[in-house]
Amino acid sequence: MTYETRLFINGEYILGQGSDLPAREPATGGLLAEVASADPEQINKAVHAAHAAFARWSQTTPKERSLALLRIADAIEQRAEALADIESINAGKPWRYVKAGELANVADVFRFFGTAVRNVPGTVADGYRSSRHTSMLRRDPIGVIASIAPWNYPLLMAAWKIAPAVAAGNCVVIKPSENTPLSLLLLASILGEFLPPGVVNVVCGDGPTVGQTLITHPLVRMISLTGDIRTGRAVLKAAAGESIKRTHLELGGKAPVIVCADADVDKLVETLREASFYNAGQDCTAACRIFVDKSIARDLTDKLSSMMDSLVYGEPRRDDVEFGPLITAAQRDRVLGFVERARASGADIVTGGTAIDGSGYFCEPTLVAAPFEAEIVQKEVFGPVVSITAFEEVETALGWANASEYGLASSVWSRDATQAMNIANRLEYGVTWVNTHGVFATEMPHGGMKNSGYGSDLSMQSLLDYTQVRHIMVAS
Ligand code: NAD
Repeated sequence: MTYETRLFINGEYILGQGSDLPAREPATGGLLAEVASADPEQINKAVHAAHAAFARWSQTTPKERSLALLRIADAIEQRAEALADIESINAGKPWRYVKAGELANVADVFRFFGTAVRNVPGTVADGYRSSRHTSMLRRDPIGVIASIAPWNYPLLMAAWKIAPAVAAGNCVVIKPSENTPLSLLLLASILGEFLPPGVVNVVCGDGPTVGQTLITHPLVRMISLTGDIRTGRAVLKAAAGESIKRTHLELGGKAPVIVCADADVDKLVETLREASFYNAGQDCTAACRIFVDKSIARDLTDKLSSMMDSLVYGEPRRDDVEFGPLITAAQRDRVLGFVERARASGADIVTGGTAIDGSGYFCEPTLVAAPFEAEIVQKEVFGPVVSITAFEEVETALGWANASEYGLASSVWSRDATQAMNIANRLEYGVTWVNTHGVFATEMPHGGMKNSGYGSDLSMQSLLDYTQVRHIMVAS
């Protein structure tokens, strides 16, 4: 397979002038392509292209922008196979899931924001101060947005950032993760077909040099990051420099799953098959720590353990595979490091816990019974690892969940609707599922609290996040 490895700046592919970075196939460790990074001059050029394009793009009508996004969505569907091939091979994802699920979601995100921009709600224009002073609100675009994307869903996270920003009339310079640049570089050709030059630009490279140069550029008015908490701090520092920048941060997560004594355990176990192990658990909403009523802890542990023993993982092209490798050898070693430290501190590794021999970065699905204070219960592991901890009172589990530094996703399992709502309402998490986990709707916001960041992806709320609200008052 040949890959597009050039940067996309001002509507053209150009060769990066910075250092070469390897894009690998996590299932084998093999090299797919060397991708030349953007040098500082090319990053500057991309930001200037976006800035220049903004003058015109910000003045287009919602209808014009909508049409462009709807056409992009159609084109993504038409080229879904080629995009899915690259996403699967470079991110190590089962091909059938990427093709049927993730690419459909990518197209849906462009289609949703293409319709949302023509339906922005707001306060009516009226004489709020006096009948002779008519006030009205505008929702104007912000300017150049620097978007920084992670490796776990390269195309979907790019879509979550590009679609609302561009729908609102902004221009974007996006940097994919250095691990997974290839699918976005192909998507750029579709974006370039339907958007004027400069509206979306793609620069490649690592975080500390290319990412940092991009987010500190004086013409960047907003930084949108999906990534680690540590990177979130770097973004906040960059935003407080010479020019004050808006920020939108989707950071890590450590989703608690609170299981009450009356929960439907079989339904829970079936749900966790995907909610914990989709994408090898490399998902900020992954159901990764279970707090279970002690009266059903043994039953749940046994059922989870046998479900995990039946999970099919391996080469992403196989039709029966449920999850593939971790993204890098370093990520696999990091995940196994958590498991080893848990073992050394006395936790029970119920099943799994080792890497798979071979050149790919595979790791067994792993269940660890550990106390609440254990590192493996407290910190984001980002791998196919689930912890289980028993509680005596559900209030204790609620306290454990809310004591976390994270506040992204959570779920509650109970057949008693009153009890479930009582817990759901008091959880300090951006999303709480009741009797399910990990189900997304493009119309609904996704975002965190506390160290998981702030700002919404998806939904009308995300479109509004990429606008500046302005008040115009006319005296007559
Ligand atoms: P990461 O923070 O290491 O990298 C994310 C991106 O930031 C990459 O493109 C990287 O090059 C860039 N980057 C790193 N340092 C930078 C700097 N100083 N300046 C500018 N850019 C910089 O994260 P990752 O390992 O790619 O992704 C995994 C993390 O992302 C996990 O913590 C996960 O929870 C989080 N995540 C969150 C969500 C969400 O919706 N909240 C979704 C997906 C992933």
